[in-house]
Amino acid sequence: MGGMKPRHQARRVINWVNLSTPLGLLIARVGGATVRRGDLGLVYAHGYRIPFPIAGAFTVGNVILTKHPDGFLHGRLLAHEARHASQYAACLGLPMLVLYVLNLTLSYAVTGDLASWNVFERMANLEDGGYRRCPPRWRR
Ligand SMILES: [Zn+2]
Repeated sequence: MGGMKPRHQARRVINWVNLSTPLGLLIARVGGATVRRGDLGLVYAHGYRIPFPIAGAFTVGNVILTKHPDGFLHGRLLAHEARHASQYAACLGLPMLVLYVLNLTLSYAVTGDLASWNVFERMANLEDGGYRRCPPRWRR
């Protein structure tokens, strides 16, 4: 793995040990996705066939999954999803899923949108992820 920065190497190891990457690989397998090695120690899973969650792409551990064919994961969206991989490492893996759902619920309650007030999506950059920035319900 030449050229990978120490923090990407660390993220890769941490997300393996905390089981979030193995879970991502399992989800990719169940969803019939084609898995290959990506940049920065990430794993790309294209052609995911389960219509949940509803997103252009989503990340579990170091695995970035999308229903789209190979080539879809690049640029700002890839940078956005890579930030989620770092969030898994920071959350020690699977607790991230619980925290993410709590954030999604909070965001929906406040704004009617699943991402606008979701801390994880905000820190990964809403616009890079293709999300809108909705104001709280009481501001409309
Ligand atoms: Zn996101």
